[in-house]
Amino acid sequence: MGCMLERAWNEPYGTPHGMSPADFSGTSDDTNDHYLVPDGDADADDSFVYLDLFGVSAALSDMTGSSDPGDGEYGRPNGTVDSDDYFYFLDQYSAAANLGRNVLSAGHDGATASHRAGNLRNRRGLAGYEWDPHVRRYHVRNRVLYPEIGRWTRRDPMGYVDGMGVYEHAQSATATLADPYGLFAASRPGDNWACEYTLYRCRQDDPAVRQIQESLDACSPGFVYNIRCASDVNGFSYYNCSANGKASEREILILPGSTCDVLVHELSHALDDCRSGGDCSHTTDPPTHPGEDRPTNCNKKVCTELRAYNRAGQCCTGGSRRLPGETACECLFRQARRSVEPDNCRGLPMLLESARKRCVSLGDSPCPLEIGQCIRQPFPWNPRRSGDAAGTTASGALNGTLRGA
Ligand SMILES: [Zn+2]
Repeated sequence: MGCMLERAWNEPYGTPHGMSPADFSGTSDDTNDHYLVPDGDADADDSFVYLDLFGVSAALSDMTGSSDPGDGEYGRPNGTVDSDDYFYFLDQYSAAANLGRNVLSAGHDGATASHRAGNLRNRRGLAGYEWDPHVRRYHVRNRVLYPEIGRWTRRDPMGYVDGMGVYEHAQSATATLADPYGLFAASRPGDNWACEYTLYRCRQDDPAVRQIQESLDACSPGFVYNIRCASDVNGFSYYNCSANGKASEREILILPGSTCDVLVHELSHALDDCRSGGDCSHTTDPPTHPGEDRPTNCNKKVCTELRAYNRAGQCCTGGSRRLPGETACECLFRQARRSVEPDNCRGLPMLLESARKRCVSLGDSPCPLEIGQCIRQPFPWNPRRSGDAAGTTASGALNGTLRGA
C-alpha cells in the first residue's frame, strides 16, 4: 500500500491549497455537512475528529505502522490502530500549519524538517502546471497564469483562438478544460493537441500563412472566423461557411497531421469569401442570394480552388499535391476538378478546360502560377442581368473579388 504524503485541492480558477494528511474535517460536529470534508487546514476540529474516529474507523485512523520517522513503516498503514497512529497524527498535525492556501507542497515554504514530507517540493498543481509559490503563479510553457484572478499575465500568443478573452484561462471552464501549452484550451491530450500546436507554429513561423492572414486582416475587420483542428472530418480539411454567412459560423477545419500548406489553402478560401462580401457563395450550392444561380457559384468555386492550390504552392515543384511527371498546370486543374466535382456544377467540364488551356498557354511559369485569366475575366455563362439589382450586385462582387485576388 502506498503512503499519502500530501493532498491538494484547487479553487475553481486554480489557486492551490496544500493539505496535510491530518486534515480530516472542516468541523467536529457530525451533523454538519462539512463533517469529514477536509477544509485545507489542520486545526482543533481535526484533532477532535481524529479522536472520534480512533478505534471506530480503522480505514481512516490507521495512518502508520511506526511512530519513528526513521522507520520504513512510518506513514504506511499497517492494519492496526494503536498509539503509533495517534503520534503520527500529531506529527502531521503540527507540521500542517505550513501548508494551506497558495502553498502547494511542503519544502517550498520552509516547512519544518520534522515533517516527513518536508523535502517533497512537489510543484505540480492544477492540470499539471508548475506552481511557483514565491510569486503565486503557474508557469505553463508559453505563458504565466495568475490563478487568483483566473487570468494569464499576457495576451494569448495565438490570438482569439479561445474567443474574445485573450487573457482568459481555459475559457473559464477549468473543471473540464486545461491549457497545457498556455496557448489554447483543450479537453483531452492526443492528436488534437499536437494538431493545435502545429497550427500555432504555422501561424507564428510560416511566411505564407502570415502573409495570407495579413491579407485577411486587411480585407475586413468584421470578418470573423475560427480555425480549429477537427479529427472528425471525413478525410479532408475544409473551409466551412454557413449559407447565411454569420460570422460565428465561419470556420476552417483542419485535419490532424496536416501541414502549413493546407492552412494556407483554407485561409485562401476564407480570403476569397471575405473579398466577395462574406456571402459564402464560394462554398455553398445552391445559390445564396437572388439573382445568383448555380453556374455563378460553380465559376466561383472553380476559381477559389485554383487560387487556393496556387497560393498554397501545393502544385509547385516539391508541392504536396504535385505528382511525378505532372506540370504545375496539370496538377492545379486535376486538384480543382477533384475539389469541385462533387458539387455537380453545370458547365464544370467546359469551365475547367477553358481555364486549363489558358494556364497551359502561359508555358512553364514560375510558381505560384499566373492564372490571371480565371481571375480577371468573367466566364461567358456568368450571368449579367441588367435591370436586376441583385444580379448586378452579385456580378459586381464576383468581378471585384476575382480581380482583387
Ligand atoms: Zn479547397
